[in-house]
Amino acid sequence: MTDTSNASTAPAHVADATKFIAIDGPAGSGKSSVSKAVARTLGFGYLDTGSAYRALAWHVLDRGADTSDPEAVRAAASDFPVRLGLDPDDRTVRVGDTDITEGIRDSRVSAAVSGVARVPEVRAQVNELFRALVAESAYPAVVVEGRDITTVVAPDAPVRILLTAAPEVRAARRAGELAGENAAAVAAALHKRDASDSAVVDFLNAADGVEVVDSTELDFPQTIDAVLTVIERIQGAHRG
Ligand code: C5P
Repeated sequence: MTDTSNASTAPAHVADATKFIAIDGPAGSGKSSVSKAVARTLGFGYLDTGSAYRALAWHVLDRGADTSDPEAVRAAASDFPVRLGLDPDDRTVRVGDTDITEGIRDSRVSAAVSGVARVPEVRAQVNELFRALVAESAYPAVVVEGRDITTVVAPDAPVRILLTAAPEVRAARRAGELAGENAAAVAAALHKRDASDSAVVDFLNAADGVEVVDSTELDFPQTIDAVLTVIERIQGAHRG
């Protein structure tokens, strides 16, 4: 990555895992909106790691390259000036000076992103970016959400949560977000992406020490409360 605003010389081991509130989960589990709300409530930063993978998929497509070709993806990643912020109220994503905040939600990007995310060198590269962003931020902590935050990016984080929900509930939520699109097609695309993604990292089962919050029977405020309760309990225990 060549963007100076996000660039860091700090190696991964310097990153302070204590600043991570790590939240993983599949698509439609509610993790983005819940993580954002939790960050706002606690005055923490918020990092949507999926947006980095989406930005890279957008970048590969923008170059007219093939997102399923690892060599093309590696080439695009070597010239990828992505800019992500940590403000929960500013979700702007840029590549260079181009604002792609809306573009990365396009169904073309959603369909291509798994191909990009399965390239190991790409994962290592964006993980370095995530650790540097958190380590260098002025926030006391950052809610970092994704698929492998509890297991790969910050396995030493004091708070690690897996946010789950039944597959049919996740599909219905996503269809609700994308009102106007065919619900069955949205569900099929979501399950296809989950199947492809879970072959790369396991975000459907909690690793040792990871707390599970199942939102199947919870509404949005109840899910936020459940996550806040886990954070308060763990932070309280740490304070002794
Ligand atoms: O969270 P979101 O659904 O926007 O993530 C988009 C894609 O980015 C996922 O489908 C997955 O391929 C990839 N991803 C990942 N690891 C993460 C976050 C996202 O592989 N930590």
